[in-house]
Amino acid sequence: MPVYEYQCELCSLIFSVKMSMAEHEQGNVTCPACKKGRVIPHYSAFFAKTSKKS
Ligand SMILES: [Zn+2]
Repeated sequence: MPVYEYQCELCSLIFSVKMSMAEHEQGNVTCPACKKGRVIPHYSAFFAKTSKKS
């Protein structure tokens, strides 16, 4: 099962969640610290950084 990294928009916690692709597509992810649903995928920030290099 793949592991997805997320960052919470409220408390900035970065956490990883192990879940199926189907669950990931539903986007039903909650921050484990503040229990809110405002999370963004952390890997997209990583890609934004690396694409700047060229
Ligand atoms: Zn949070």
